[in-house]
Amino acid sequence: MGTGLKSRVLTALAAVVPALVKESELREVRLSDGRDGVTVEIFFTEDQASFRYISLWDGSTDLVEIVDYLFQELQDFMSETSFAWSEARPPCPGHSHPRRLALEDGALWWLCPSGDPGRKERAFPELAAFFSDHRG
Ligand SMILES: [Zn+2]
Repeated sequence: MGTGLKSRVLTALAAVVPALVKESELREVRLSDGRDGVTVEIFFTEDQASFRYISLWDGSTDLVEIVDYLFQELQDFMSETSFAWSEARPPCPGHSHPRRLALEDGALWWLCPSGDPGRKERAFPELAAFFSDHRG
């Protein structure tokens, strides 16, 4: 596991975690590399549960893919916690359901689960600069 992958996972976490977790709920984020890959652990203040994810990424995995995987896993996890299950995270503007993240054509998009194409919007635009840097 090279340091490049770990730094991409860190960049991904910096975008994904604030989109899904409130600051007051966040106790600690741990990132470690081991024989099996990069392990992400997120501990919460309001729940005994912790999110743990061992990556299947290798050193060449694109940042967009890491963001996509982490977002999907963490969104699923949050929807089952005692403190966030009833909330739409992140909210779909004007709707009561959460937004869905999709990876299409090498870019990340917010989609409305109702399927309204007019609601498609670029997700995590702040990461755009990193996407081209780390490609290949
Ligand atoms: Zn919607």
